Amino acid sequence: MTAPSTAQEIRLASRPQGVPTPENFELVAVPVEPPGEGQVLVRNLVMSVDPYMRGRMNDAKSYVAPFEVGKALEGGAVGEVVVSNAPGFAVGDKVLHGLGWREYATVAAEHVVKVDPERAPLGAYLGVLGMPGLTAYAGLVDVAGLKEGDAVFVSGAAGAVGQVAGQVAKLRGARRVVGSAGTDAKVAYLVDELGFDAAFNYKDAPVTEQLAAAAPDGIDVFFDNVGGDHLEAAIASFNPHGRAALCGAISVYNATTPQPGPRNLGLAVGKRLTLRGFLVRDHAHLQERFVREVGGWIAEGRLRYTETTTEGGLAKAPGAFLGMLRGDNTGKALVTF
Ligand code: NAP
Repeated sequence: MTAPSTAQEIRLASRPQGVPTPENFELVAVPVEPPGEGQVLVRNLVMSVDPYMRGRMNDAKSYVAPFEVGKALEGGAVGEVVVSNAPGFAVGDKVLHGLGWREYATVAAEHVVKVDPERAPLGAYLGVLGMPGLTAYAGLVDVAGLKEGDAVFVSGAAGAVGQVAGQVAKLRGARRVVGSAGTDAKVAYLVDELGFDAAFNYKDAPVTEQLAAAAPDGIDVFFDNVGGDHLEAAIASFNPHGRAALCGAISVYNATTPQPGPRNLGLAVGKRLTLRGFLVRDHAHLQERFVREVGGWIAEGRLRYTETTTEGGLAKAPGAFLGMLRGDNTGKALVTF
């Protein structure tokens, strides 16, 4: 076996109260488990840090089981097969799987998908061509029912999901696309690099005011990554029959008490709004269409993306995760080994 006998993993040391800290994580050396029948041993090369991982750190019933204290965290990763006991997988294959947060992963073949490093850089399979990209596509196409001529607002627009959502909206015929983000540099990125029609820094002034100014004719679709004041602003700006794809609510992920809902929710009646939450995993049927359409736009140079990569290996992953929650990333937040 071309793997060491021990390797490192990151465990949940304790459950965060509010904003997570480095003390909530523990880096430990563990034996590398040789793959059994139907399994592969993967050396991870790049892993994803995602907002949903914050939810899994809580001991709360949700759509996915909580991480266990004292056990390794999990999440998307791409690595190289170093030992294969599974038909169809060879040493050297690059694969996508769900056991990030560790240097080596022993994974059943049915939970591993081969990726093509010639087609796209490995990190893209965790970002623009991976789960966040599909989330953006599914939220607009399946959930919000985007139509040509819609005016679209994307919150968290400079992140992994948001940067794809705004561009897909534009490429599918939106009349106007507005984005919000937390720094002036991100706002400039949205307008200058990604072709958003307008963008604003949500820290500068109330979101309701800034959105009303950026979308003077109202909005028809809201792709929400943030919740809270952004959702309230969208409800205020919605035209009749507006549709919101509620993708995430990162503004409340670290809250320790229940947060109030939008104060203007009553407007949903008269405006006949649709506010619809969704999970990307329910939209796997779009995967092929998504890769064909979005992959094509990338190849043609019509859809652009960026990544924020933290180098230096597994020990840097907690810092990258905490930084992503703070907004240090533009585009997909990744850690390379
Ligand atoms: P991301 O946007 O790349 O990274 C998180 C970003 O959130 C940060 O960069 C930060 O950017 C912003 N943020 C942090 N605190 C904020 C606050 N209080 N108010 C406003 N913005 C804040 O992450 P992502 O992977 O693309 O995920 C975006 C959203 O989609 C998250 O809510 C996530 O949970 C959700 N999601 C849902 C699904 C699904 O199936 N429904 C799948 C994937 C992701 P700023 O500098 O702009 O603040």
